Amino acid sequence: MLKLENVSKFYYNKGIIASGFTKVNLELKIGEFVVITGESGSGKSTLLNVISGLDSYEEGEMYINGKETSHYTEKDFEEYRRKYIANIFQSFNLINSYTVYQNVELVLLLNGYKKRKIKKKVLKIIDEVGLTEFKNTKVSKLSGGQKQRVAIARAMVKDTPIIVADEPTGNLDSESAKDVIEILKRVAKDKLVVIVTHNIEQVEEYATRIIKMHDGRIAENREIRKIEKEPEVEESKYSKITILNKYRLGIRNTFNIVSKFCLLFAVFFFMSAALLTEYAGFEESEELAGQIGYSNMFSDLSENRILIKKQDKTYFTPEDYAKIKALPNVDYIIEDDLFIDGKVAIERQEMQFYGNMLPIEDYKGTVNVGRMPQNNNEILLKTNKEHYYIAERIEDVLDKAFTVTEFDSEDKLSDLTVVGIVYNENNDDYESKFYVSKDVLAKLRTSLTKMYSDIKILLNDKYVEYGILPSSQVESGKAIIGEDLRYEFKNGVIKDKPIKINVSNIYYSQDLDLTISSAFTKSNFRRLTGYEKYDMYRYGIFINSDDYDNLYNKPSYQSSVYVKDAKLIDVTLNELQNLGLSPKKITDYKVEDGKIYKQIMRIIKLFVTIVLVVVLFFIAYLIIKIILKSRNVYYTTLRMLGATYKSVIRILDIELFVNSTLAYSAVLGIMYLVKLNIINNKYIYELTNYLGLKEYVLMYIILVLISRLISRRFSKKIFKDTAINTYNEEV
Ligand code: ADP
Ligand code: MG
Repeated sequence: MLKLENVSKFYYNKGIIASGFTKVNLELKIGEFVVITGESGSGKSTLLNVISGLDSYEEGEMYINGKETSHYTEKDFEEYRRKYIANIFQSFNLINSYTVYQNVELVLLLNGYKKRKIKKKVLKIIDEVGLTEFKNTKVSKLSGGQKQRVAIARAMVKDTPIIVADEPTGNLDSESAKDVIEILKRVAKDKLVVIVTHNIEQVEEYATRIIKMHDGRIAENREIRKIEKEPEVEESKYSKITILNKYRLGIRNTFNIVSKFCLLFAVFFFMSAALLTEYAGFEESEELAGQIGYSNMFSDLSENRILIKKQDKTYFTPEDYAKIKALPNVDYIIEDDLFIDGKVAIERQEMQFYGNMLPIEDYKGTVNVGRMPQNNNEILLKTNKEHYYIAERIEDVLDKAFTVTEFDSEDKLSDLTVVGIVYNENNDDYESKFYVSKDVLAKLRTSLTKMYSDIKILLNDKYVEYGILPSSQVESGKAIIGEDLRYEFKNGVIKDKPIKINVSNIYYSQDLDLTISSAFTKSNFRRLTGYEKYDMYRYGIFINSDDYDNLYNKPSYQSSVYVKDAKLIDVTLNELQNLGLSPKKITDYKVEDGKIYKQIMRIIKLFVTIVLVVVLFFIAYLIIKIILKSRNVYYTTLRMLGATYKSVIRILDIELFVNSTLAYSAVLGIMYLVKLNIINNKYIYELTNYLGLKEYVLMYIILVLISRLISRRFSKKIFKDTAINTYNEEV
């Protein structure tokens, strides 16, 4: 069966050559029970390793069944081992985290047996080595003698023609040693057993040949009983491991060591969280970048906003608004654009809040503190919960009167009482909203329009810089000016002279032609105008209140539509066009477009994601390598039992895949609970807004790819050297 001719084995170690054994000549037949002895370091183990194809040799020739092996590749030896060799080691080389049954079964799983065919065979052999009552016990709990019997059972179940045992009794007490030898002898029938031992007496009665080694050479080769005729060699049957069995082992390995499972889970959990957070963070930045840009006219430049005017340039009617509201992508309409773009501040003493004024009718939510407004001059204040005046001095805000800053009392935008407070949804948002009555809004509209409008007054064919003021005392179509302005007129004649007024802004241009009815003096100022402070208004031009309203308080010619989904904004634009409107995206008014920032953001995102993936890969690989270090023995054992490179990768792949999938699901689970508000975390909540199915799938694929790369790298390491070298390195 086996023949060695002048075979030598050298070890090369950092330039130093050591001899394992030299010029060994040996012929071994099936049916023999060969005992090898010799002092430590004499080359016994080296010889066994070469015979079992676990290690290479450098000189001479070894024949297997008459075939030369000097040209054998690692793969050829792998096949040889699978067909012919079963190893038993002094240190057992069992999988400690597996039960007795699983250890024995493992050989068959790796060699392509189907699960249902395995059971009977495994149980029978466990019975033969007397371990039936321990079949479901983890190997780590067994005594040394029991462990070696498991190792023998594992060697037996493979049913190979050659069994190689290197000091199988070396770690056992004499009683257990005897048992083991006896079992081996029983097994040895019709096989070739090669056993290394120091205890010649124990094996002498069975041995057919005793070999003594000394200093790397065979010192004595004594044949005790001659094998007349070598029986037919029956190669061990094997095929590739089935896919199902790979999964079985992969899943078994995922859970069989709890601490390892938890550590790997933690690593994958962290990786999943890091990937998702990073990606969501960039999605957010990308969106914000898209909003970059400014406009002189509009303060709200959000992507969802569309400006609308009617194509016939008339003002909007309630029916128009109803039609617009009925469009599917329309979220809401702000009828008066001024209330979006004209931000105001309300103040009381040193307190100030800044934001938009909006109609109370549009407010649909609840009130956090206080109540809803009931009277014209009452305000519902929506602001940040952590705003200093809200958090610390709410008693100075609630039920107190505020004034709209920059509008003097003549505009009657004072004494607005805050009766209710609502908190902003977003705690980072420090802007406020003031919900007020239609009446207040009308005054505000007039004041705001005045602020945003240009006024030209043509007095006696000369443009002047005086201001106009509304007064109910003045007749419509007439104007009253002060005596002080008399010098502006030819010959000092004021009465019946024309005044042309033009008010223009981004929405409209309005002319008003008036004639002067009279001039006031300090003494008749109050009677003619209804105003008190002569000194303040002596250069004012007083006109009728309705005329004044006609200049400034117009129905809306322009409104804003907010869409639900900005991605579909072009569809909505079309629909609005079809309704007879001229719609325009607010983003078209941006002086600087966010698109370029968005693109830059996207490139940065891609770059950072790649860097992160690489960094995560290396961190994870290092940690997982340490975690799996204890598993090297497992994988080299698999290899010794006949597992191929590919199947080892696969089994590890599956283990990491199952673990990473569980970890990823856990992260998603937590995000879901946050989304449902069962777990409260603002940060995670906001991130989830930027992640959709596409992102979740993408990140999962990246995670699985990383775990695959790790298993590949790890397996490569295990297979980079001969089986025994890798094993020795790891033990
Ligand atoms: P035994 O099993 O008889 O105790 P070994 O076969 O283990 O002896 O060792 C034989 C010789 O080979 C010894 O001199 C030992 O130092 C050397 N040797 C064994 N393994 C290695 C190795 N991996 N690298 C270098 N030298 C080795
Ligand atoms: Mg040895």
